Amino acid sequence: MICTERGIRLAGIVSDSIVDGPGLRITFFFQGCLRACEGCHNPGSWGLDGGEETDTETLLEKIDANPILQGVTFSGGEPLLRAEALLSLAEGIRARGLPLAIYTGYTFEKILASGDQAALRLLDYADTLIDGPFLLAQKSLALPFRGSRNQRILDMAASLAAGTAVAQADPEWGYHPEE
Ligand code: SF4
Repeated sequence: MICTERGIRLAGIVSDSIVDGPGLRITFFFQGCLRACEGCHNPGSWGLDGGEETDTETLLEKIDANPILQGVTFSGGEPLLRAEALLSLAEGIRARGLPLAIYTGYTFEKILASGDQAALRLLDYADTLIDGPFLLAQKSLALPFRGSRNQRILDMAASLAAGTAVAQADPEWGYHPEE
């Protein structure tokens, strides 16, 4: 079981990010993470009860406020802890024709093996998954859109169809697994 929390709590929003995926994106940092990775970029997002409570409608309004957005990113914290609560937001993002990227500390294989239906349904709305925990020993500033070498950038539709991790081949992600 991965999804444990009800409701949406936000640690923060960046409305004009160019570092959480290709193009101009809005990034939602969801509150709550159980990992405590050494060197975490956002330790203020760990507490499950921290941050601010919000709802789908409010977040969709923030997306609609910027007509030149090219994508949406879920980060954290750990977005999958709130997978059930995020389904309607993800559905709204898809309805707007915007690509969705999700950062998670879980590997794709771990999510599949968990059988967590909410987490799997959320992945189904994602175009791209950046998976795996941040590992300080594998940190690199040279990797586009990921913090450590162990993290992968996956094509979610292809990965879910194949039942195995498939690398994101879109050149805009600049993902080279061998790096
Ligand atoms: S998974 Fe991400 S948010 Fe959670 S502790 Fe690790 S780096 Fe921080």
